[in-house]
Amino acid sequence: MPIYEYEPDGDSCDFCKGRFEVLQQLSEEPLKVCPECGKPCHRAFSRFAPIKSTRDMLSTKNLAAKGFTQYKKAGDGHYEKTAGEGPNLIKGD
Ligand SMILES: [Zn+2]
Repeated sequence: MPIYEYEPDGDSCDFCKGRFEVLQQLSEEPLKVCPECGKPCHRAFSRFAPIKSTRDMLSTKNLAAKGFTQYKKAGDGHYEKTAGEGPNLIKGD
């Protein structure tokens, strides 16, 4: 059964916090409003269960959404930011 990810059309509520996920049958109609607050929303993304693989958890999108900052090594003591807040480049010397 696929997991559908929804985004609010406008302001998010306490429940959505910008996004929420719903387990739905393929045959079910997409939700048009948030089940918690009733605000308009639209389907943004879908994938099949299991909900979160380690790879998904560590995707740059997910890291940024969870408030993490991720850097990758870009060369001799340099690190480039790939997700989140913070300086774009760090020198590691
Ligand atoms: Zn909501």
